Amino acid sequence: MLVGQQINGKLIGAAVADVTKKYYCPVCHQRLILKKGNLRIAHFAHSTVCILKYGEPETREHLTGKLQLQQKFAFAGYKGQLEQYLPELQQRPDLLLKMTNGKTLAIEYQCAPLTVQQLYQRTQGYRKNGIRCWWILGENHWLKKKITQQEAQFMMWHPSLGFYLVYYFPKRQHFCLLYQIQQADFLNVSYLKFITNDVKKLQIFMRTVTKPVTLSVRLRTMQRRNFEKACCFYRGSLFVEQLAWYEKKINFRLLGLELLEFSLDLPIFAEKQIVWQSRLLRLNDWPVTEIDSFQNNTEILTYQLPLIKNNNFVSSCLKRFKMKILQSNLLKSSKINF
Ligand SMILES: [Zn+2]
Repeated sequence: MLVGQQINGKLIGAAVADVTKKYYCPVCHQRLILKKGNLRIAHFAHSTVCILKYGEPETREHLTGKLQLQQKFAFAGYKGQLEQYLPELQQRPDLLLKMTNGKTLAIEYQCAPLTVQQLYQRTQGYRKNGIRCWWILGENHWLKKKITQQEAQFMMWHPSLGFYLVYYFPKRQHFCLLYQIQQADFLNVSYLKFITNDVKKLQIFMRTVTKPVTLSVRLRTMQRRNFEKACCFYRGSLFVEQLAWYEKKINFRLLGLELLEFSLDLPIFAEKQIVWQSRLLRLNDWPVTEIDSFQNNTEILTYQLPLIKNNNFVSSCLKRFKMKILQSNLLKSSKINF
């Protein structure tokens, strides 16, 4: 913690606190230990456990980061309070900003892992009380080759930016915005990057219209190759589809190559799109000849995305898939039969 309470009840920053004096937690009112060392910046620590459930481990990155974020937002004209406890919510955002329009914005600088339930509860808590919340991520949440639930859950969406994540790196003192995040089957995650040390510049950029990158011919070729390789492993949900189609006397490898053309590259699916697409076709008693008979009779596994209206994306994705299937020759063609 960076803010403690003095014996007279007033709040004080750890940087200006005096080691010879006593300080208390503004939430649970227990004694705090003032730590001033070389490794981490000055901060307060509990000697016992705080009643506040969501205490994040106070790593150097988290402590330095939230202090720097306060300074950066102040520089952009947003006065903010560090670690202000909101008793009615029982939450303590890292930074609470009063916006020019009178609204309140909570900044959560998330460096440690967080369960999706915690993320949901905290976001809901703010929402119910009319507070907007902005999740800024630390280094540990950097996107790897494949998206996982741990990163996906922080994903936000805007028509100008597509799917995006905001990071802050205290060592380099800059923000990094990953936008137009896409995940195509059998390929690494792809995104565009914007780096700035200035909150205003970040705000301006986030209002600029950007375009998603379309996959290059080279990547599409790689995707097809990776799919064909995966078919040889006879594993997992892909193998389930292979077997099921085999029983229908249809070559799944050839069908799959056709289906890859229909993928939308959205980073919301927890399983490969080709798998739910294949399942959907199968359960509709292939070949589907009429749109009316094409039912949504399959469960589509997506990540839990509390900051996004996930269902809208899934239903528009399904709609587009159906349209494409019905427009394509795939239904009539016999080229995927054995
Ligand atoms: Zn406490």
